[in-house]
Amino acid sequence: MNRVQKDIELAEQYGARNYHPLPIVISSAEGIWVQDSEGNRYMDMLSAYSALNQGHRHPRIIEALKKQADKVTLTSRAFHNETMGLFFEKLAAYTGKERILPMNTGAEAVETALKAVRRWAYSVKHIADEQAEIIVFEGNFHGRTLTVTSFSSTSAYRQGFGPFTPGFRLVPYGDLEALAAAINPNTAAVLIEPIQGEAGIRIPPDGFLAETAKLCTEHQVLLIADEIQTGFGRTGRRFACDWENVVPDVYVMGKALGGGVMPVSAIAANAAVMDVFEPGSHGSTFGGNPLSCAVAIAALDVTESEQLADRSNRLGQYFMGKLMTLKHAHIADIRGRGLFIAIELTTPARLYCERLMQLGLLCKETHEYVIRLAPPLIITEAEIDWAFARIQAAFSKS
Ligand code: PLP
Repeated sequence: MNRVQKDIELAEQYGARNYHPLPIVISSAEGIWVQDSEGNRYMDMLSAYSALNQGHRHPRIIEALKKQADKVTLTSRAFHNETMGLFFEKLAAYTGKERILPMNTGAEAVETALKAVRRWAYSVKHIADEQAEIIVFEGNFHGRTLTVTSFSSTSAYRQGFGPFTPGFRLVPYGDLEALAAAINPNTAAVLIEPIQGEAGIRIPPDGFLAETAKLCTEHQVLLIADEIQTGFGRTGRRFACDWENVVPDVYVMGKALGGGVMPVSAIAANAAVMDVFEPGSHGSTFGGNPLSCAVAIAALDVTESEQLADRSNRLGQYFMGKLMTLKHAHIADIRGRGLFIAIELTTPARLYCERLMQLGLLCKETHEYVIRLAPPLIITEAEIDWAFARIQAAFSKS
């Protein structure tokens, strides 16, 4: 048995069986490239589900990591540290919000936002105790914790995990009438992905985000934007909400906030919402740790100084122009914003992902029929040409 087979077998023998990865063992990575343990090189077209917008091991982010690791890595929130305040200041400026609450994973940040808006509903909107409702959308993906799973519309995410958390109302994504009909005096908030990533890069109809924001304002309902996958330049804007000039009440962020190095998530909101938390009401041992904060400051610096949002916008259009020339009986649709692109097929996408892997391009299917193309945003035009040639080759066979 060779090394690769051994690594895969160990993971399968001792690990829970909750993933179905492609059979590649990555041993090193740099920029947009990864290498397997046999020395083969692949282009990363997934970016760890958009957590690697700045590329693998960006030198400035790694430098910040090393520098901070030599000083102090963890203090807990029982004490202050030197990097957390600087991180809050930077993320507050990036989001235009007054306050930041740091967590670690995306799902935790979503949970934090849900707790914030429920408290706000009782203490500010004066909804009767235990009656607050939050509107969510069909096809949503906000993580894997039990409450988040409670309002998923995907049976594979829910099956066998009940009983679930009550207080959520599902409406079809992009359906403004259904949304308006679902709002009632007990509605605390609307939770939305401005583009649904895991559902297959579903872009709502033009104007839907702006109209949703308007409805929320009219009914004193908070708008929570889950920008965990779409934030930090991925869709060609800082946030996907920017496409419609929407400023949500609460931003939920994760993934690329940690620069592909540390799990860093956060919510951002103004004091009127965030100040519902007092000491003891919420927290996290690792949230706001100095190592994560140093990394996140560097990740934000890179995102801004390398103008990753503009780059994603420009190169996304370039990539899309090429992809639109693809003709194949199995291609049902090609859509995207920035470097967040979906090729939707009429047959399972796994076969094509396996073919692309053989050709040196790492993609992963989402929701069975969609190939997601989401490279690190530092990719160049020439590298997109390289990727496109592989995609053409994968679709040159029937
Ligand atoms: N929200 C969105 C929109 C996501 O895409 C994801 C992960 O894919 C999450 C939440 C959950 O993030 P995490 O896996 O870090 O908990």
